[in-house]
Amino acid sequence: MRSPRRASVAICATSRKHRASLAAFGVGLLIMSGCAAKEPPVPTPVQGTTAGPAVSPSEPTATSTSSGQPTQRPPAKPQRTNVSVVMNGDLLWHNTLWYSAKEDAGRRRKGGYDFAPLLAGMKPVIASADLAICHEEVPLAPPGGPYRNYPQFSAPPQVVKAISATGYDLCTTASNHAVDQGFAGVKRTLDDLDRAKIAHSGTARTKAESERPTIFTTRQGVKIGIIAATFSLNGLPMPKGKPWAVHRMSASGLLSQAHRARAAGADIVLAAVHVGTEYSTSENSQQVKLARALTASPDVDLVYMHHPHVVQPWTTMNMKWVLYGVGNTVAQQEANNTYEGATGRFTFTRVGNGRFTVSKAEYIPTLVTFYRPGRPARLYQVSAALKTAKGSFRSRLLDAQRRTTGVVMRKHPKGLTRG
Ligand SMILES: [Zn+2]
Repeated sequence: MRSPRRASVAICATSRKHRASLAAFGVGLLIMSGCAAKEPPVPTPVQGTTAGPAVSPSEPTATSTSSGQPTQRPPAKPQRTNVSVVMNGDLLWHNTLWYSAKEDAGRRRKGGYDFAPLLAGMKPVIASADLAICHEEVPLAPPGGPYRNYPQFSAPPQVVKAISATGYDLCTTASNHAVDQGFAGVKRTLDDLDRAKIAHSGTARTKAESERPTIFTTRQGVKIGIIAATFSLNGLPMPKGKPWAVHRMSASGLLSQAHRARAAGADIVLAAVHVGTEYSTSENSQQVKLARALTASPDVDLVYMHHPHVVQPWTTMNMKWVLYGVGNTVAQQEANNTYEGATGRFTFTRVGNGRFTVSKAEYIPTLVTFYRPGRPARLYQVSAALKTAKGSFRSRLLDAQRRTTGVVMRKHPKGLTRG
């Protein structure tokens, strides 16, 4: 349902999901009807403290019967509000993914590019989240191209249709490739996302837009602020006279973004930072320093990072989750483990009028296959695919699961489970 909630000071987006897949949670406990709020399974607190209930159990509420005799009614149970947020890493549109999408369009007797079949394997997870965030790593080309591969990307704009069809609500756009096609690329990408009603954070078309926090309002009415920045622009200059076009990474810049989001009414603030050492499965000192600074602020609730193209450890710091690396979502690079990612699924819970804290934390291993002519690339949720996979594909999935689990769990984070 697209409800018409809009805050006057922030870029607000509202939940665009009509349907949610029961399969995503793997349990039959969910009640979903039309646009009603989804209720994830009863969460087990894993960290932090939840603020006290709005009505104290020690203060029973007095009421009276028809005879006028006062009686004691059990106190109203404080209301629990749950929201699920899903986030993952780079959508890195290499040319072989365009060829793959062209094949998929051809199979459906359509022209052009169809990227939806590539992403469809993750749709149950993405579409069922109250908020799902992608990372659009590269700028989009004008309709009809020219399209460009590495090192200065310009991707077919048809990717946006697939991003929308998969169920993403928002994409971060601050990356080292953000200005590959100059300011025109920045603007075109945001215009395309706007047209598809996908919210965005990290780049801007005007100074005013760069200063407005991005806040997504879920179907439950929970406001989630998303702040984003990148550590690099690959040595390319910021568009002339537009120093605000891309949020560059600094602790102070991100903290002021977070503060503006809070001031605009955000109940939860997530930081998505494009940083890390490429192909390293360990966080670097820049990431650690930034995570410390961001998690120390009451304005930030969770920090996640992408750019290294491989997964990195997930941990907690200052009682908050830090995901050093979620890996790629889709890309076609050389190393095996760049085809493996970890999608985060976090349930935030509020009791009464308290603060939201994470009540359930999951990493969901993913695998994208290598494109060969005649075999379009596919993105898989590893645990779901393992239910039916056989032979060498099964071995490949198990390999991805083992490798991703080994890295993500390296610091033994308490309460993190595999989805
Ligand atoms: Zn990058």
